[in-house]
Amino acid sequence: MIQEIAPRIFDNGFKNRKAVPEDLFLAYQEDEVLVNGKKDKLWYPSFADFEESHPHLKAAAQFLFTVDDVHYFLVEEKGLDAVAGWNYVSTSRFRSEKKFWRSFPGAVGWQLNRWYENHGYCSRCREPMGRGIGERHLQCPSCGLRIYPTISPVVIVGVTHGDRLLLTRYAGRDYGGYALIAGFVEIGETLEEAVSREVMEEVGLEVRKIKYYKSQPWPFTDTLLAGFFAELAGKAVISLQEDELSQAVWVSREDVPDDEGGISLTAEMMATFKKGFLWR
Ligand SMILES: [Zn+2]
Repeated sequence: MIQEIAPRIFDNGFKNRKAVPEDLFLAYQEDEVLVNGKKDKLWYPSFADFEESHPHLKAAAQFLFTVDDVHYFLVEEKGLDAVAGWNYVSTSRFRSEKKFWRSFPGAVGWQLNRWYENHGYCSRCREPMGRGIGERHLQCPSCGLRIYPTISPVVIVGVTHGDRLLLTRYAGRDYGGYALIAGFVEIGETLEEAVSREVMEEVGLEVRKIKYYKSQPWPFTDTLLAGFFAELAGKAVISLQEDELSQAVWVSREDVPDDEGGISLTAEMMATFKKGFLWR
């Protein structure tokens, strides 16, 4: 999964740190990220790379996080591809980059960039928000409102029926591969209740033996994914919610598609089932 970067260590601890030339920075323009155009991998800039053309970048940079001993900052300035050798490339590269220690920091930085950009002003009194000190938050200097990075919980459900797993395809999305049942947790609901509700809503099935599997931070959609397996209870007749899904099918263990080394919890859950996962 994309967050698994061992032996490297992602440290999200917030530091009141000023940028120095050897620190790296992430700079985004909408759905693009600044990288070195001569490299075939996601190669982020250091402040030293921009020292001559943009010596002021360090002072306004926002500390983000640390990977091993490398500090990452966020730079809000646009148009940095005016400097020779640097280009903005699609953030879809975060999904194809083989080295997760390159893609994961870029994707988390992108999430934080959206959060900072979307919360420039206090939603209560319209004053410009101030940056928190000592921890990662924004605070209104006028009314004191504090906000923290947006993380919405989502459940992913592998519904099993003996030796078969329920796979779905989404309607009206670019991603055409197989997925599992998934949906946002609603207000006043436990994760397990969200599992039962989503399965009923999307395919009209009842489930039992709901068991937690693993979780995954998913910076692409500001979500935290909680993966569960659940066993079919009752009839296996699927009633498809057609505005959400284009297809839902029972797939035998050996026919579950391979995505070993995939970036997502969904891919890992499918691989786990394929390798012989069964409830005791
Ligand atoms: Zn306010």
